[in-house]
Amino acid sequence: MPLARKVLEESAIQHGVCIRPVPLRRYDLATGEEKIIDIPCGATLSSVCPPCAESKRQLRIDQCRTGWHLEQEPDFTPDPATEDQKLLVQLRSQAQKSLDDSDDSEVSEWEETISEINAELAATGVRGRLGVEKAARRVRTTRRRQDASELPKRPVSARTVGKVYEATGGKKFRPSMFLTLTLDSYGRVTKDGTPVQPATYDYQRAARDAIHFARLVDRFVQNLRRFVGFDVQYFAAVEPQRRLAPHLHMAIRGTISRAELREVIAATYHQVWWPSTDEPVYVDQLPEWHDGIGAYVDAGTGEILPTWDQALDEIGPDDEPSHVARFGRQFDAQGVLAGTKDANRAIGYLAKYLTKSVDQCHEAATDDQREHVSRLVEALRYEPCSPTCANWLRYGVQPKNARPGLHPGACRGKAHKATHLGYGGRRVLVSRKWSGKTLTDHKTDRKNWVVEVLGVEPETPAPGRYSFEYVSRDDASLKPLTVRLMHRIAERVEWRRQLDAARHGPSNHAISATAGRTS
Ligand SMILES: [Zn+2]
Ligand SMILES: [Zn+2]
Repeated sequence: MPLARKVLEESAIQHGVCIRPVPLRRYDLATGEEKIIDIPCGATLSSVCPPCAESKRQLRIDQCRTGWHLEQEPDFTPDPATEDQKLLVQLRSQAQKSLDDSDDSEVSEWEETISEINAELAATGVRGRLGVEKAARRVRTTRRRQDASELPKRPVSARTVGKVYEATGGKKFRPSMFLTLTLDSYGRVTKDGTPVQPATYDYQRAARDAIHFARLVDRFVQNLRRFVGFDVQYFAAVEPQRRLAPHLHMAIRGTISRAELREVIAATYHQVWWPSTDEPVYVDQLPEWHDGIGAYVDAGTGEILPTWDQALDEIGPDDEPSHVARFGRQFDAQGVLAGTKDANRAIGYLAKYLTKSVDQCHEAATDDQREHVSRLVEALRYEPCSPTCANWLRYGVQPKNARPGLHPGACRGKAHKATHLGYGGRRVLVSRKWSGKTLTDHKTDRKNWVVEVLGVEPETPAPGRYSFEYVSRDDASLKPLTVRLMHRIAERVEWRRQLDAARHGPSNHAISATAGRTS
């Protein structure tokens, strides 16, 4: 028989209730009242919280649809900060303080919390990040080579909307595009995505391409804008192919010819100017952290390892980049008109895997597939994922911002994990001038729709009325999770009933104001 708790969770999922709500203590600064409220966890993966992941996916679909065929330039006057944004900044501040006060064992937990809040803030449309100092730009001779693209450059106009075409007969249309970009081949693969000859499949290049994929996409967009001469906007989703290499589905506003795309794709590359990782320097006797010096030293000689910046300075003008990432020559591009079946199908593709982690998109079902996954994970194990990666110690370099406790092969960066397979970046990439709306705007649109149907006034507290604080899991006044879930399910059922009544029955003005809550 199923456990009661499990059944409750399934019921919560069915009713769209977050299964890992975050309790916050809310102080009403006007009345002094204090209350614990639950806010949805906001997970994007359905393996973590299906209702939150699904509602985020729906917002992404709204966002994609809104921007794709825009006919007028979106408005970019910055809005005043919303209550949501202020709450997030407040939570961000508390998390920062906790991080700064915490001992080593808790650091990574708080760092994770902070990166979640940062992502949440960015999703509400806040630009820039808090607590990150701008690194001084390194001016290096190698930069010149990075920018050398053979493409002719045109001045980029401010236009972001697509051109209008007129058909014979006078009918006007404004087509947009759906583009799919893939990485190069690493060796032939069979239908199930596994290599025909695992021994010669280039796992190292596959691993490096995946790690640097996001930068390659950036460069493609830059080149594209310069080449076609307008401020191309896109909504893109990164997901793995069956062979486990990341690829990109991209909705582009406006059209670009296949010939132009082919040229830009062929001329786009990302050079990685990192210290060489061809030969490991330390394998058995690893460098040790020296407390007095505050750096890693050679365990045998006591010599201090070169810092990240010193190692970069040693890369000479005649050296080769440590890696060059490129797209494969194959690409797929289709013109798409607003509101058509094709447009809906493409949005379906873009949103299909958004609630799944990379490894869940194509779950390994056969031994061959499982072995393919583990060979790729093995190739990623000692591949540096970023300048701060612990793996730099293996190659005789202090990782950037080095601290004690780093072990090559045990970097905690996302890229190394089987759930990411090299790609540690964001799964949805949306250009800044896509829809002129943030995810919060789209969420508000949805709420407003409900409010309109119900004919109730939404609860809008006076700005600054509430102050919030995290509630610890063992706080005596916190009700058990099961009880909190039951309350939310009951609320949800009642809310649905009222919504259905309002939509189908005669208008009902006696609906309580609490029904306006949708999340
Ligand atoms: Zn949730
Ligand atoms: Zn790493």
